[in-house]
Amino acid sequence: ATPTAVMVATGVGASHGVLIKGGDALERAQNVHYVIFDKTGTLTQGKAAVTTAKVFTEMELADFLTLVASAEASSEHPLARAILDYAYHYHFFDKLPSVEGAAKQSREEILSEWLLEAIEFSALPGRGVQCLINEKKVLVGNRALLAENGVPVPTEAENFLIDLEVNGKTGILVAYDGSFVGLLGIADPLKREAAVVVEGIKKLGVHPVMVTGDNWRTAQAVAKEVGIEDVRAEVMPAGKADVIRSLQKDGSIVAMVGDGINDSPALAAADVGMAIGLERISLLKLRTTSW
Ligand code: ADP
Ligand code: MG
Repeated sequence: ATPTAVMVATGVGASHGVLIKGGDALERAQNVHYVIFDKTGTLTQGKAAVTTAKVFTEMELADFLTLVASAEASSEHPLARAILDYAYHYHFFDKLPSVEGAAKQSREEILSEWLLEAIEFSALPGRGVQCLINEKKVLVGNRALLAENGVPVPTEAENFLIDLEVNGKTGILVAYDGSFVGLLGIADPLKREAAVVVEGIKKLGVHPVMVTGDNWRTAQAVAKEVGIEDVRAEVMPAGKADVIRSLQKDGSIVAMVGDGINDSPALAAADVGMAIGLERISLLKLRTTSW
């Protein structure tokens, strides 16, 4: 491509919410062998929503939701936002004296009324969050997080979790003071164009791969829905770049499509890194039509 064509393409990309770094990225993009897709926020809408909340102890559901939302309040992860939204709406109808009274309060005021104080908060990439609430340790995240902390998950809960996962949902486990309490099921629908984009790049002879920090069952269910056979799941944020480097070993050219949230190392490791906005996967449309 001439420099002018590259400039125009970069401009077109930017207007579609696509960041193209350097003109040579466009040249390399013409010979791509693999396109690696991040799952959350890239193939999926990144608009996660809680679909199930289930307590496996004596704890009341309202208290469980308060606990989880309080632990997630400082997290910026899309899953945390989904949990806070769900808890907020639950309490909105459960606890407020009247809708009239509620209308006078902002969301933040309502939240601050019932969120518990969480101290020593830490976000654990690829696993979840931990903090102290009422001087007790709270864990919210995946199996690995609970296992690392020596918290067993009862068989009944594990079966419930597997059922969520085979249906493409992400299960979030909650432990309080060293014991498992309950779990949440979170759905994040595919972007409307995701499947047709995957089909399109297959037609070009390019091999699509999905890489995600999410668990194997959820990853495979989502991959099946979108038409990707090659899946790499339970990959920590730093491991995504390793996946790319291993594919490059035989000289293959690898493109990475991510939302840029925790996949920047992978975007940088790829021959072509495409950071897309949450709205659509438009760079691939550009590639199939005008390049
Ligand atoms: P992806 O690769 O799909 O973008 P991440 O690497 O961000 O996913 O997260 C991987 C997994 O870690 C999630 O599926 C979830 O189980 C867990 N996790 C990460 N952050 C959080 C959080 N704030 N709350 C609960 N679970 C989390
Ligand atoms: Mg992501």
